[in-house]
Amino acid sequence: MAEMRLQKFLARAGVASRRHAEEIIAAGRVTVNGAVVAEMGAKVDADAAVVAVDGNVVRLPEETVTFMLHKPAGYVTTMSDPAGRPTAAALMADEIAAHPALFPVGRLDADTTGLLLFTTDGALGHGLLHPRRHVTKTYLALVEGVPAEDAVERLRRGVRLDDGMTQPAGVRVLAGDEAARAARLIGRGEGASGHGARHGGKRARGVLEGGGAYVEVQLREGRKRQVRRMLQAVGHPVIALHREAFGPLSLGGLPRGTARALTEEEVAALT
Ligand code: URA
Repeated sequence: MAEMRLQKFLARAGVASRRHAEEIIAAGRVTVNGAVVAEMGAKVDADAAVVAVDGNVVRLPEETVTFMLHKPAGYVTTMSDPAGRPTAAALMADEIAAHPALFPVGRLDADTTGLLLFTTDGALGHGLLHPRRHVTKTYLALVEGVPAEDAVERLRRGVRLDDGMTQPAGVRVLAGDEAARAARLIGRGEGASGHGARHGGKRARGVLEGGGAYVEVQLREGRKRQVRRMLQAVGHPVIALHREAFGPLSLGGLPRGTARALTEEEVAALT
């Protein structure tokens, strides 16, 4: 139980300043679970007590929490899955037990890894997904072949998908250290199979032995499987996809399969 002094409870509930709340208490206007409490310094169970002022029940504003999850591949972005597949929510079981109102902000494909937000704040969650908000999402894709400059230009300007033209996007074929970093984040770096990661010289130019490349894509819209469909449309199917950043937030070193609460500053940066 969360114990709190009565005057603090009243101040947090927006009834009055702490000083004024003390006067209200001293005047015998406050009841806790039906009984008048006029003594200063009384504590209440902030989760369970019924506090009233002049007979009107007052409540603390709901605290909202937002988490970022580093979603591994193979997890669907749903709270539960009728087909019994592993869910991102299962990775958040402890957080959801503590905050049952948590829901995922948008979705990542089951085979996409990376940053997925969960929040109890409906306004924040739905606001972030609103097309007019234009929150930039940053993806790293491992693709087949090496996109030439004209393919990159088409992706930047917009490509035609079956649900219409895409909006302008930030697109770069990564090279050198940036490609090596993308390989690590996507989990296809040294020791990963099938992409010739051992050939340092080739990898240093961002070109894999199997003819693939690492591409950074920054989108301000969020259609279903959009990055995969865009790259497919220009002839470079996606082998692996990772979301590195959502607006101003990036995963940093958050280990795969784990979650952490955002700080107040991080939440403020999102809004
Ligand atoms: N684009 C995709 O293709 N897949 C995702 O999971 C996210 C963006």
